[in-house]
Amino acid sequence: MTFLIPRRSALLAGLSTLVAAPWRPAQAGSDVWPQALAVPGGVVRLPLGPSAERPQAFSGDIPVKVIGDPIAWTALLGIALSKEPGEGQITVRMPDGSLRTVSYTIAPKRYEEQRLKVAPGHVDLSPEDLARYERERQRAQEIAATFSEPLSDTFDLRMQVPVDGRRSSSFGLRRVFNGQSRNPHSGMDIAAPRGTPVRAPMTARVIDTGDYFFNGNTIWLDHGGGLLSMVCHLSAIHVREGDVVQAGEIIGKVGATGRVTGPHLHWGVMLNRTMVDPALFLAT
Ligand code: ZN
Repeated sequence: MTFLIPRRSALLAGLSTLVAAPWRPAQAGSDVWPQALAVPGGVVRLPLGPSAERPQAFSGDIPVKVIGDPIAWTALLGIALSKEPGEGQITVRMPDGSLRTVSYTIAPKRYEEQRLKVAPGHVDLSPEDLARYERERQRAQEIAATFSEPLSDTFDLRMQVPVDGRRSSSFGLRRVFNGQSRNPHSGMDIAAPRGTPVRAPMTARVIDTGDYFFNGNTIWLDHGGGLLSMVCHLSAIHVREGDVVQAGEIIGKVGATGRVTGPHLHWGVMLNRTMVDPALFLAT
């Protein structure tokens, strides 16, 4: 699928400041975030080697986040839940213009399946709702295409959990309603009472706020380099598009807006336009 690059991302790229990557000792193996997990819905870390300037990486024509420093650059590739296990590759463009490919292997992962029987009216959308959903899906694709310079030197991509509460491990859950497969669950659900403050998981620029059919009141955050996160079903939104928020800053409140059965936070994390498991960004 091809995505249009929206004007908004060009604007964001133009607004942000280019920061020269400082020199740093190479990182220790296990204390890095996100944790690498080469499965559908996971994140692959691909060493790109040394280079005076940051190389560019692409999965097909989609730009991939590159972190590190001149001693060792690393591409961070999000793997789609829909991706089949097997070999894959990214293209790397070095600062001198030379191109090379870097290969990786995706291992299989079987996510849990949930089969539900619900009244037909709860599964099929009315023509109006379907039209609304189509518009919102296009909008979401535009947002997902955001690729900006990071606001700060985000070498450590550890996130803080946006709300305290019981975290479900339902990322990737395959849902079948009345025998029909739905999209797998693309984020982490956290149980919390209505009104609980929701905090930015990491320093970010707010790139969208809105009320969406399925997700309800939603905030999209841009952490730079195609790393985005979203919080959904909010009862209140305290930020506006263009705001810069620090990690831990209150951005909204837990609610039950959109298509949900009760108050909770749905938290999604996206890399290269692909929803990945938010748990990989949290300290265990
Ligand atoms: Zn959810």
